[in-house]
Amino acid sequence: MSLTFDYLIVGAGFAGLASAERLCALGKRCLVVEKRTHLGGNAYDRYDDNGVLIHPYGPHYFRTNSPRIREYLSRFTEWHPVNYQILSHTEGRYWNFPINLNTFEQYLGRPSTGAEMEEWLATHRVQIERPANSEEVIISQVGWELYEMFFKGYTLKQWKRHPKDLDASVCGRIPIRTNRDNRYLQEEFQALPKGGYTPMFERMVGACGDRISILLNTDYRTVLPHVEYGHMIYTGPIDEFYDCRYGGLPYRSLRFEYESFSPEQLKDRESIAGKPGFWQPALQVNYPNDHDFTRIVEVKHATGQLCSNSTIVREFPEDYGPGKEPYYPVPAPDATAIYQRYKELADAEQGVSFIGRLATYRYYNMDQVVGMALAEVDRLHPSSTQKIPTSRQT
Ligand SMILES: Cc1cc2nc3c(=O)[nH]c(=O)nc-3n(C[C@H](O)[C@H](O)[C@H](O)COP(=O)(O)OP(=O)(O)OC[C@H]3O[C@@H](n4cnc5c(N)ncnc54)[C@H](O)[C@@H]3O)c2cc1C
Repeated sequence: MSLTFDYLIVGAGFAGLASAERLCALGKRCLVVEKRTHLGGNAYDRYDDNGVLIHPYGPHYFRTNSPRIREYLSRFTEWHPVNYQILSHTEGRYWNFPINLNTFEQYLGRPSTGAEMEEWLATHRVQIERPANSEEVIISQVGWELYEMFFKGYTLKQWKRHPKDLDASVCGRIPIRTNRDNRYLQEEFQALPKGGYTPMFERMVGACGDRISILLNTDYRTVLPHVEYGHMIYTGPIDEFYDCRYGGLPYRSLRFEYESFSPEQLKDRESIAGKPGFWQPALQVNYPNDHDFTRIVEVKHATGQLCSNSTIVREFPEDYGPGKEPYYPVPAPDATAIYQRYKELADAEQGVSFIGRLATYRYYNMDQVVGMALAEVDRLHPSSTQKIPTSRQT
């Protein structure tokens, strides 16, 4: 391996690999260093011991409104269209979620109409002109009762903070509808890479040919004395880049508990799941008010995998600390204030780009991170801004 590179890229998630692929396409030599043992960052997927395709770092529902990002990733994968369906379980029963006319009828216990629901909401909404936090954003749309049924407990468990102490964007991203649209997400394109995320990442690396070198299971700091490079693309935590000199940024972490079921065990669940081969009736069931976990996900509903076993995962929010993964940046004013101090240092940095969800300390969806990587490569090489070919090439 040559020890001189045009780019040193820290992290092999969406941000790192999309940057590497684009830069290699420009003829640049890239070294990607990843401290985990695999490609893909949090979007990595794999088969478990029962042959079920799982998402070990939490379920990843791909969606986008951007034709550019869709076309870019379509070079490396075909797609399996998905209608991501979730339910909420509280008061001993399943509810349609996000809140819509079906949920409202379940609440009333009788058929209703969009007009009746609009009227009901109008009398229950709390008038708040500019909702300033997550509690206000929900009560100003649906009132106290539905907020307490579906949002308050979930948010407290997830963030260990009161919704009043979280930015409005946290709960504000969940739609409230007065029609029968049960879709969890609103983006035009909703699909998973056919065959999984990991083969897609492998094809991205394959497209780089011999211009890419990858070191897995390696902290980038251990290679710094041994390599020369022109520019660094850093996708790790921004506070760690600066040795946490202003203190560690707060994150929420997660613990995942998996449980697998054989076809015989799944038979007993058929009446609940509503179809054979599954444990629960939807991809994701939220538990806002009971248990220590926030949700149970059975990703086989989304992957469309033909497999007679199934695996569910219960997701337990946890404090971040040594040995834990920094899953969610905390969207609250105190955390943002610390981040701003690191960002000032990053803005003054020469020769380093900070992209991705950890380096910008912001919860971004996968497509947004890909967009950030494509934009950064365009910025670094403006004269060669590349057209993304639309045909699949690998
Ligand atoms: C539980 C969960 C569920 C999610 N669900 C969705 C979803 O449904 N849909 C969606 O669009 N998005 C989802 N996301 C967001 C999605 O994971 C991110 O948008 C995307 O993975 C970010 O890519 P990234 O490359 O910025 O970061 P990452 O995937 O975190 O990659 C950064 C990489 O840098 C590596 N690294 C860090 N420090 C070092 C170091 N010192 N040396 C070497 N390597 C280092 C890390 O190991 C990591 O692999 C979810 C996130 C979580 C946590």
